[in-house]
Amino acid sequence: MPVDGSNALLAWYAVDKRRLPWRAEAGERPDPYRIWLSEVMLQQTTVAAVIPYFEKFTRRWPNVETLAAAADAEVMGAWAGLGYYARARNLLACARLVAAEHGALFPDSEEALRRLPGIGRYTAAAIAAIAFGRRAVVVDGNVERVVSRLFAVEEALPGARETLYALTDRLTPATGAGDFAQATMDLGAGICTPRAPDCGRCPVASSCEAQRRGDPELYPVKAAKAPRPRRQDVAYWLEHGGEVLLVRRPPKGLLGGMLAFPTGLAPAEAEWREAGSVDHVFTHFALNMRLLCASADARGEGIWWPVDKLDEAGLPTLFGKLAARGAEWRQAA
Ligand code: SF4
Repeated sequence: MPVDGSNALLAWYAVDKRRLPWRAEAGERPDPYRIWLSEVMLQQTTVAAVIPYFEKFTRRWPNVETLAAAADAEVMGAWAGLGYYARARNLLACARLVAAEHGALFPDSEEALRRLPGIGRYTAAAIAAIAFGRRAVVVDGNVERVVSRLFAVEEALPGARETLYALTDRLTPATGAGDFAQATMDLGAGICTPRAPDCGRCPVASSCEAQRRGDPELYPVKAAKAPRPRRQDVAYWLEHGGEVLLVRRPPKGLLGGMLAFPTGLAPAEAEWREAGSVDHVFTHFALNMRLLCASADARGEGIWWPVDKLDEAGLPTLFGKLAARGAEWRQAA
């Protein structure tokens, strides 16, 4: 895309950019806390899913100091349903480090940002460019798609990642890298979509090799994926006096630090009954989890939670689905 293509993209963005709650309005300075929070939430998650979480978090914790002072369980509970829970643990660790060691100010260079928990190459570049006006090369999935089409890159992802990074580097202007990145992301989200890109409305169509060749959907080329392995596990609904047993999962590992029903080994001897199963897809595997239900004679160790307030427990989505099975079992019992 020649320079006039970048200019056309920026002119289009000035008029048609998405209004998003973390974006500064014209004349406002971007707030690094809001940019950081949104970028962490947006890792592997759609804008539509992130918006209500972003609004909930910023209402409750309007700046990095308030978030740093929050209890772990509160933040994990507020994150429930957004998935990829390691992000929430890193979010807190990062907020606490910024509050304690950086005077509650985010560092403004990619290099320093990358030393913070949960901030990788993409997120550091996005914060440096968008919040601090640095020249940084910002490549997310939308940018990969747009750039692979502009240059009709034949190399397949994920191997093509460095090539796409280098091409994005060539396109990124010396000033306004944040606007350029956001413009490219918006183009990918609204016009240069995975299916049926709307090339007729595209501000850079005249510079696009894939559209010239006639079939932009061919890009980005992707290597064939190995099928996701399937795993099986068992969860337990143990109830006594209108309360159900929950455990906090170990901090590391799948859904680490979240409240959940016990899994694996039965938490007590009881007359366990099958209550169906649920399927849930994680990044690297698909899980089928059975639910066994029983009534307990007495409350044992653990966190006993009122069944009629389970929606306030902040259960991750998998366990929310299992809770629905447990409710069906109660009705049938
Ligand atoms: S012309 Fe079409 S394929 Fe090329 S960048 Fe624009 S929307 Fe995407």
